[in-house]
Amino acid sequence: MRELADGVFHLPLMPRSGVNAYLVGDVLVDAGFRWQAKRVLAGVRGRIVRSHVLTHAHVDHAGGTRKVIEALGVPVLAGERDLPAMHSGQPEMGFHGVLEKPGNAYGSFPAVPEATALHEGDAVGDGFTVLDTPGHSPGHISLWRERDGVLICGDVINNMNLLTTVPGVRQPPTVFTPDPAENRRSIRRLAELDPRLVLVGHGPPLKKDAAGALKRFAADLGG
Ligand SMILES: [Zn+2]
Repeated sequence: MRELADGVFHLPLMPRSGVNAYLVGDVLVDAGFRWQAKRVLAGVRGRIVRSHVLTHAHVDHAGGTRKVIEALGVPVLAGERDLPAMHSGQPEMGFHGVLEKPGNAYGSFPAVPEATALHEGDAVGDGFTVLDTPGHSPGHISLWRERDGVLICGDVINNMNLLTTVPGVRQPPTVFTPDPAENRRSIRRLAELDPRLVLVGHGPPLKKDAAGALKRFAADLGG
């Protein structure tokens, strides 16, 4: 694990930061796919973890949650509108037609009925605040620390092409995003923050001119 900002550690779960989790003070943010739980637990071994927070209830973030909370014995929290998905392990996806059934099967994960709600303005870890950033999922949240401009934004943006793994800011794929227009509103909201460091669910951290890159991307989005 590398420390990227004061008390903020990066836990890459795949090569090229293809899937990421973070340790923020004593809070584990996201837990990857189900098969990555072991790697998450190895990453936080020897460190104090007091709670587990999800940016959103999707299989590549909450898939490892069941195993992780059982091993660590910690409470788990997610945005209120993602609690139905946490509790059932069946998130609403953006698949339609013949893709709906296999897509929804792919997107399911071990249910976490003990998950409780996070709300806009809640404090998380050392100095982070919850921001509601819906669109990619109904209850998607981001974590913002104003004092040093650190933003953890889950999948509001990806910083890689998920097929080629080439880095670059992009919108998350529509098949995994039930409301792309609402997600674009969330991107614009985050761009207004002028973050210094942006940490995403998929892709490397945005360090150099993060605020400028996000602003230009948001400006080019359209509706
Ligand atoms: Zn994701």
